[in-house]
Amino acid sequence: MKYSALSVFLNGLRGNTAWQKMWRAPDPKPQYDVIIIGGGGHGLATAYYLAKNHGITNVAVIEKSYIGSGNVGRNTTIIRSNYLLEGNNPFYELSLKLWEGLEQDFNYNAMISQRGILNLVHNDGQRDAAMRRGNAMRLHGVDAEYFDKEAVRRFAPYLDVDQSRFPIVGGLFQPRAGTVRHDAVAWGFARGADSRGVDIIQNCEVTGLRREGGRVVGVETTRGFIGARKVAMAAAGNSSRVAEMAGLKLPIETHVLQAFVSEGIKPFIDSVITYSMGHFYISQSDKGGLVFGGDIDMYNSYAQRGNLSMVEHVAEAGKTMIPRLSRMRYLRSWGGVMDMSMDGSPIIDKTPVENLFINCGWCYGGFKATPASGWCYAHLIANDAPHPLTRQMRLDRFARGNMLDEEGSGPTPNRH
Ligand SMILES: Cc1cc2nc3c(=O)[nH]c(=O)nc-3n(C[C@H](O)[C@H](O)[C@H](O)COP(=O)(O)OP(=O)(O)OC[C@H]3O[C@@H](n4cnc5c(N)ncnc54)[C@H](O)[C@@H]3O)c2cc1C
Repeated sequence: MKYSALSVFLNGLRGNTAWQKMWRAPDPKPQYDVIIIGGGGHGLATAYYLAKNHGITNVAVIEKSYIGSGNVGRNTTIIRSNYLLEGNNPFYELSLKLWEGLEQDFNYNAMISQRGILNLVHNDGQRDAAMRRGNAMRLHGVDAEYFDKEAVRRFAPYLDVDQSRFPIVGGLFQPRAGTVRHDAVAWGFARGADSRGVDIIQNCEVTGLRREGGRVVGVETTRGFIGARKVAMAAAGNSSRVAEMAGLKLPIETHVLQAFVSEGIKPFIDSVITYSMGHFYISQSDKGGLVFGGDIDMYNSYAQRGNLSMVEHVAEAGKTMIPRLSRMRYLRSWGGVMDMSMDGSPIIDKTPVENLFINCGWCYGGFKATPASGWCYAHLIANDAPHPLTRQMRLDRFARGNMLDEEGSGPTPNRH
């Protein structure tokens, strides 16, 4: 089924009763070439690119709940490629380039909106760091502009630029950054993968990894054993639990991150703005709700709900940056479980267990990485060799001391 203006029109004439289901609900086959554990954005994108780029279609995505129930449907929808380090920047720029063509590619409206992101700067040290990052971006061919204080004031007149707490002195702007409707990404990749023959199996939890002679031969699930030549983990906040089934201990901690939505109001914020001093980020959805978030809750948890002290912290930071937020009513908040790595960067690699692959460690920022992660993970699984852009995202980099620490925060997962 192809979506087009004509198909919308013709289905409208038929009372919208002729649309097909977006993906099938197949029973698991006894054996697949590849099983992907986790039907989040990364798992579904990997299945899509395995089929599309490598012709590998005997693939199952095994999801313990429903598609989009994890972080892919819980995030604040920000996409960007404003990275400093050589090991990060080209990877995230590939992702942004893939986002730019994604809706045409998978023929689904993901409401990709390149409205720009402005990272505010509050002191000389932050200005130096922003300039350095902006220059690094430009050297990689990525768009970046530095705004001085007056340019920030013109760009976002609702900001309290001259506040006494953390006065704003400038900002680093990436025009091509923006937002994407998060759950539509899951649906688009699911639909695209399914139409190429991938089985998406929902409400099926992986409970064990069966090994024979040191190699993985399939997964134990709540619907029985399913065999596979290769098994690829994409379980985000549950990565440590799944890896434990193969006897692996990952350099990952799981933390909760909350997000918030306000009542709908008229257009007010037309880009993404981040407030470095309070760690607060905000945009406005097409429905009018303000969508925002802040820090992770600082304790380890697998529960998809957060604590009230972080609600207060986020509201306080938002109000300091945009005083008129104090007049808003907040409608909803929710939490997702974050796979926080030791250096704040992801892992896309083979594991020491033969035929078992890993994709995790996305910390605060895995949504923007979804297309590139799927692209590169599919390359790794198909070729048994890492994609050139993920060479620094290896699992053994912690043992080798070759960190990819974008923030320079050191080996403390909750600080990245
Ligand atoms: C509140 C919040 C705000 C965020 N904001 C942003 C943002 O603005 N920009 C950005 O780039 N990133 C953001 N992120 C991070 C981003 O959402 C995640 O890094 C990314 O979605 C993780 O990859 P995923 O989509 O594959 O994860 P998920 O959607 O969580 O997918 C993992 C899936 O694995 C399944 N699973 C786990 N264990 C098993 C098992 N044993 N068997 C079967 N299935 C299993 C889970 O049910 C889940 O569906 C945010 C995250 C949160 C929570």
